[in-house]
Order: sequence, then C-alpha cells, then structure tokens
Amino acid sequence: MKDFYEILGVPRDASDEVIKKAYRKLAKKYHPDKNPGNKKAEEKFKEVTTAYDVLKDPHKRSSYNLSGQYSGNKNSFKDTYADMPFGFDSFAGFRDDFFENLFNATNIKGFPKLILDIKKEVFLTLEEIDTGIEKDVFYEKRILCPDCRGILPVMNNCSNCDGEGVKLVATYISQKFDIGLYDSKEIIITGKGNFVPGAKIGNLILIIRVKDHPNFAKKGYDLITSKTITFPEAALGTIIELENLRKQKLNVKIKEGIQTGTQLVLHGQGLAKPNDHGARDRGDIVLIIAVETPTNLIKEEKELYLKLKEIYNNKIPITS
Ligand SMILES: [Zn+2]
Repeated sequence: MKDFYEILGVPRDASDEVIKKAYRKLAKKYHPDKNPGNKKAEEKFKEVTTAYDVLKDPHKRSSYNLSGQYSGNKNSFKDTYADMPFGFDSFAGFRDDFFENLFNATNIKGFPKLILDIKKEVFLTLEEIDTGIEKDVFYEKRILCPDCRGILPVMNNCSNCDGEGVKLVATYISQKFDIGLYDSKEIIITGKGNFVPGAKIGNLILIIRVKDHPNFAKKGYDLITSKTITFPEAALGTIIELENLRKQKLNVKIKEGIQTGTQLVLHGQGLAKPNDHGARDRGDIVLIIAVETPTNLIKEEKELYLKLKEIYNNKIPITS
C-alpha cells in the first residue's frame, strides 16, 4: 500500500488545513462525475479519499503514523469493491450505512438489491453545532455503469459492474450544517443517492449525531455542566472559572453557604438558536454545584474540624 502522505503529496507534519487543501484539489481533479468511464481517475479518487479519510482524523492519523498502516479498515476501496457481493466479512471495518444499503435484500442472482436512498450518519461536535460548519461527507453511491451504460442484465458481460449495469463508487459532498441541529435530525439532499435502473436517482439522507462533549451535556439549547468545590469554598463563597463553548472565560460567583446540588443559570451562554433576524439568541449554561466532603485529613485539618465541630455544638441549640 502506498504511503498516505505521498498519495496526498503532503509532508508528514502537514497541518489539517494543508491536508484538507491537498485532498480537495486532488478529489476535484479525479472525481468520478468529472471523469466518466476513466478507471485510472476512479482508482486515484478512491486512493486519495482513503488517504484523506485516515489523515483527517487525529486518532486514525496517529495510529497510522505509529504503525505505517491503518488497521481500522484493512481493505482498500479496491478490495472492498472486488469482494462486495459475497465477501460480507470484509465489511467489518465499514460503517453500517454502507452495509444497510446493500445488505437488506438480494435479487435472484444473489446481488444486493438496489435501494434508492442512502442513509449516512454525520457526527458533529457541540462547537460545530454552535457555529454551524461546512463539512465534507464521504459516502458510497451507485451510479450508472460508465462502461456498459446499464444494458439489460441478461446480455450484460460488463466486467466493470459484473453485469449489474450500476457501479458502487466512493464520493463526497461538501455540506453546510447550520446552527441549531440536534441528535437524530435528518437532512435530505435530493438527487445524491443511488442510481437505480428504470427508477430514478435517490436521495442522500444525513442523520445528525451529536458527539459527546468533555464538559457539557446538551439539553435543547442549554448546556449542562457541573463543578466540584471544597467545603471551605462552599461555606465562605468563592469565584470559579468556567469556559463556554466559544472558549470565553466566565467568572461565576459562588455565594457563601451554597448547598450541594444547587443549579446556577448563566443566561445566554448556551447554544446558538437559529432565528430569522440575524441576532443570535442563545440558550443557557446550567451549572450544578457539588460540594466535596474532605477525606484524608492531615493533622492540622483534623484539629480545625474538631474545633469547628465544637463550635457547631455550642452554637446550635438542641432544644425544641
Ligand atoms: Zn457495466
């Protein structure tokens, strides 16, 4: 297998931006829509798409850098296609949308029956949902076989499509995701699905999946988070620092005597809400305070707590 960096023509320490630019340039050049019937271009497109798919992902990239190969998906696109109708084992590394498209039913010849619409999950971070983002979405779709142009299956000896008249190709679209998206939201992109002979071209259905965030849980347009403070901080009051999704530092005043479980609402610090007027409305941050009971007291602390206990006992009348 060729080196992914070589395929994209970038140095090993290239930034994400450089990799993205290199990929876009090559993908445009070799895109199947622009090179109908050109097998070399098609191979090249699959190659650069495979390389980019790994190098754009920090986890995949570092694992590739370490091992010189990407183990998450051992099959190159070429192998996968060659195996497609029979070798379902080889799909182990692929996402289920690919699977779903092909696996559901088979026709008489044992080839996967064609389904018009393609479902594809798109994973977005909370930051991406907050600002909106344009992203490349990679997927596979069926097109009219450029070699045989889909002549009747009975007469068809086409080796490019195994006589199916249609062919699975790797492709991508650049899609703009607006603010205000939520988990399971479906975005229908008409005419970007599978080609089915005698029918029409189906749709691409993007299903939004919101990635887990290390600090915030999403609830509508609100962001839920929690902070733990110490006993003395709870008793005396304090100021805690919090960062919103836009990396802005917020100083939150904690009043003396705060109880564990108290929820503080930071208005307008949550997720951007879509509206027609341009002005950006936002949800809130809900900050849940947890008070930590001290453990492993050192001698000095223990003495102070004993002293505190004594004071409490004298202070609180045990009458009534
Ligand atoms: Zn063909």
